[in-house]
Parts: sequence; C-alpha cells; structure tokens
Amino acid sequence: MTELTGKSVYQGVAMGPLLVIKRELPKVEKKEIEDPETEINRVDQALTQAKEQLQKLYEKTKRMIGEDSAAIFEVHQMMLEDEDYIDSIYNMIRTQRVNAEYAVNETGDNFSRIFADMDDDYMKARSADVIDISGRVVRNLTGCRDTDLSDAEPSIILADDLSPSETVQMDKEKILAFATVHGSANSHTAILARMMNIPALIGVPMELEKLPDGARAIVDGYKGTLVIEPDDETASAAEQKMADEREKAKLLQTMRGLETVTPNGRKVHLYANIGGVGDVGYVLENDAEGIGLFRSEFLYIGRSELPSEEEQFTAYRKVLETMAQKKVIIRTLDIGADKQADYLHLEKEDNPALGYRAIRICLKQPDIFKTQLRALFRAAVYGNLSVMYPMIISVEEVEQIKKIAEEVAEELARSGVPYAMPEQGIMIETPAAVMLSDRLAGLVDFFSIGTNDLTQYTLAIDRQNDRLDDFYNPHHEAVLRMIQMVADNAHRAGIWVGICGELGADLELTETFLKMGIDELSVSPSMALPLRKKIRETPA
Ligand code: PEP
Ligand code: MG
Repeated sequence: MTELTGKSVYQGVAMGPLLVIKRELPKVEKKEIEDPETEINRVDQALTQAKEQLQKLYEKTKRMIGEDSAAIFEVHQMMLEDEDYIDSIYNMIRTQRVNAEYAVNETGDNFSRIFADMDDDYMKARSADVIDISGRVVRNLTGCRDTDLSDAEPSIILADDLSPSETVQMDKEKILAFATVHGSANSHTAILARMMNIPALIGVPMELEKLPDGARAIVDGYKGTLVIEPDDETASAAEQKMADEREKAKLLQTMRGLETVTPNGRKVHLYANIGGVGDVGYVLENDAEGIGLFRSEFLYIGRSELPSEEEQFTAYRKVLETMAQKKVIIRTLDIGADKQADYLHLEKEDNPALGYRAIRICLKQPDIFKTQLRALFRAAVYGNLSVMYPMIISVEEVEQIKKIAEEVAEELARSGVPYAMPEQGIMIETPAAVMLSDRLAGLVDFFSIGTNDLTQYTLAIDRQNDRLDDFYNPHHEAVLRMIQMVADNAHRAGIWVGICGELGADLELTETFLKMGIDELSVSPSMALPLRKKIRETPA
C-alpha cells in the first residue's frame, strides 16, 4: 500500500482501478524476435482493438456533435483495413524479424511520407491520419493510454495535467476520480471535476511511469490522499466513507423542490453552471432553478473547426427546451488562456491570461461573434434566455457589443428568420469593470460576478499556476469589497446582480453574500442542494 498526498479540489471518496494517462508514446525500440507469428497475432489484436475504439468514437461524436465531425473516425477505420498498410507491417515482421511495435511505427512513418509527397491535397491530408492511426495501434500494443476512455472501465484517472479540452472530451461515466501531478484549484479542469461531482486531487507527487495501471486505488477528497493498492482495512474504511456519502446525498435530497429562501423570507435565485448540452442532466438532477452560466466556449474546443450557426443553434435550443421556461444564461465565447482551439491559430503569448481572449476575440473577429449571436437570438424563441459577455473592461466595449447585437437582430428580422431578443448582461470579472460598474449598470440588464478571474486580476495571481496556491486567499478583503461595490452599483441602477464564479458556492461566505444583497448564485450543480440548505438556515 502506498499513500500519496495532494491538494483536494473536490471532496468525496472513490475506489476503483487506476488508469494512467500517458500522452507521450513510449520510445518504440527495435527488437529482434523469435516467432514472427506471435507478433503478427499481437498486431491483429491491436488492430481489432483500434477499430473498436474508433467505432465508439464515431458513434459518440455523431451523437454529440454530428455526422460530419464524426466522419474522420470512419476514415481512420478504413485506413486500418487497408491491405497495403497491413501487408507492409506483416512483411516487415516476417522478413526483418522485428517486434510488432517497431513494424507498426515504421510502416506508419513510411506511409505518411509517401502521402505527404503526393500532389493531391486529399492524399496529403492523409499523411497526419496514418501517423494518428499507427500511434493508436502502438498504444494498444504497449498498453499505453491517451485520453480516449472509450473502452475503459470506470477508473481513477491519473495524469500529469489535464487541459479543459481533454477533460470535456472524456467519457464522464468512466471517471471515478481524478488525480494530477500539476494543475491548480481554480483551473477549468478543477471546475469540471466539481461539476461532474467527482473527487479530484491536484499536486500529487507521483511518477506516472512507475504506477501500476489497473491496480486498485482510493482517492479521498476529504483528506487529499491517493492510496494505491490499499490494504483490507483501508479499503473497508473507504467503503464505509462512500456509504456515509451516499447517506448524506440522500438526506440532501430532502432539499429538492423546496424554495431557496432565507428564514426571514428573502428569496435567492439558485442556478447552476454548465459547460455543454450534456451537463443539463446534472442541473435537473440537483434541482437547480436555472442555468446561471453556460460556458459556451466548450462547444468550440476539442474539435477541428468553428461550430456552425446551425450546430450552435441546435445546442442552445436543446438546453432551452430541456430547461422549459427556467432561466438559461449563456455566456458568449470566452476562449483563450487555458481554453484553446488550435484552428483559431491564436499566437502563443507571454501572458495569455492578459492576452487576446474572450470578448476581445469577438470584437476583433466579428464574424465569429455574429454567428454565435445569430444562433443565440434564434434559440431565444424556445425558452427563457439571457446572454452575457465575458471579460469586459470598458463602457465602449459594451456599447460596441450592443451595436453588433442590434445589427444581428436587424439582419434576422430582414431575412424573416424567427428570433427573440434576450436579456443582455455582462460578467464583472476585471477590476476595471468593478470600478466602472456604476456606469456599466446603466447599459445592461444584469451583472454576473466572475470571482475566478476577478480574484486572479485583483490579487495578480495566475489561476493556472499551482505554485501560487499558497498565496491565494479566496476570502481576500479586496475581492469582497469589490463584490459589495458591484452589488451596490447594480441595485442603484435597478438591475440584478449574481455571482457565477466558484466563490458563490463557498458556504462560509453565504451569509456575507446575502448581507451584500446578492440576488443570484450560480454554482456547480453538485453544490446546488448544499447551498439551498445553507441559505434556508441563514437569516440575512
Ligand atoms: C469567472 O471568471 O469567475 C468565471 C465564472 O468564468 P471562468 O471561470 O469560465 O473564467
Ligand atoms: Mg472568467
């Protein structure tokens, strides 16, 4: 039994097999082998496994994104059946008496070079694909995992670090817990763990190469520990904790259907944060009263091209229809910093958190922005939509946004496309927006305070940097005073104000927020019922 300690970013206990993610392929070594037929058998098994993985990826992508995006996995399946490719691998094993990994890797390289040298653009593009499929087969041969969990059993995922795009693409049903070597408590990956309601640790000092893939382990998000190959006593203590948790969760269910109201009768809107259409289930399961932050950029990451207007319209409409007439606040594209999309070709920046991101991209590349607004305004017909804009720093930006929004509405009206104008608000997540909140309040319908970025920019602490966690004080007086200032300025102008950053779920601050007059709290779905309980017990 080995016990490692990290920092917990979400509580809970999970027990199950380890699944170690290693992105880098192990160096493929050339080895002389005795029996070619055994190696050929290994190749056949790895090819079959690869085809099954690709079929699952095809089905999942088709279901979640659409047939066009899924087609690439069909192409990859066909390439794995290509006779020339397979014959070349077999031949190399038989004539050169080399190991399967080496033969697949070499064949991949050879074919890739041939494709790259062709004149035809379609064939040129297959060059990267053949490397991709060969990598998959080599991974299967070496038992090395990437983030494709399609054929994994539910596991405790160990990785060096996980990017938001990797996390969103993972099959959530397969994840019992996360533990990573790096990462920070306020990263989007930690936020996703909270949303999925799974225990998660960061900063665990582990050597991934040496960990036994498949071995039983426990993640304890209360103690911040990862126990590998626990003894019987530790395993049964974990089982007891898991049973206690289930009991607590059952008790919390008594909060379902109750009003979110303080003992002295003050009503608070209790909403949930989501990252995609598939997360709406968590909102309903946890009885949140609406969606206070739909991070729409998750529709844009982990793919190879911009989502079309139709694709976005379908996603937004689905969320609105499922939520019936409950409030759904969709934030426009907040890409950049840790949330990257390669196809946008954003330049590498020295300070990405202070860089070309979010509304800045939308204002500089209005075509992207307008496509999203068209999809949103069209979807607004199907429910109770509000739209909000991230990373605002000036009055001029808001005026410019409103002008673009009006243009989009006029274009839709002119072409006779059904649409509705949603309520429009802004995120207050920069000190500049706080200081201008008296003027900004006159321009919009609501404020939603993004405490994750507001804390980052106020305290000058990069939320992605795990070395700064010790300096990070989420209850810093400067941030709390800013929230008070924003609430006062909102109310003076007669608009409502909410918090959608992680701080909104901090039960130690619920009383403070209620006293400040915060009207809405939007939290990870898993925090909705505990927060309702807290509000119902807090006279304020
Ligand atoms: C925030 O900054 O508080 C916020 C809610 O947005 P995100 O975490 O997506 O940056
Ligand atoms: Mg933010």
